[in-house]
Amino acid sequence: MRLPKYIDVGPTRYPIVKGSKDMEDRGWFIYDKGIVLAPGMLKDMEAEVLLHEVFHAIMYTFNITDYVKDKLEEKLVTDLSTALATVIRQNPKLVKYLQERLK
Ligand SMILES: [Zn+2]
Repeated sequence: MRLPKYIDVGPTRYPIVKGSKDMEDRGWFIYDKGIVLAPGMLKDMEAEVLLHEVFHAIMYTFNITDYVKDKLEEKLVTDLSTALATVIRQNPKLVKYLQERLK
């Protein structure tokens, strides 16, 4: 499956694009640009980085960043994205169930 061109988070559509090879980070979320992923990552690493940036987008869009300090946000997003990636990998039936229920 291909990388989606965008994600919708609440009322906002954020583009998802691949960045240049000289990106210093594996991914970015910039509220007025969307998500940028470094090229050439292993597929599972790319998925986890995408989840990480989606959490940043959720936190920004739903104003969660207003009450979480920068360092705490990074730690929270990192831990949640790693944990969710693990749960998704270990529970494919759960993911299908949730997709069906949330249509
Ligand atoms: Zn981050």
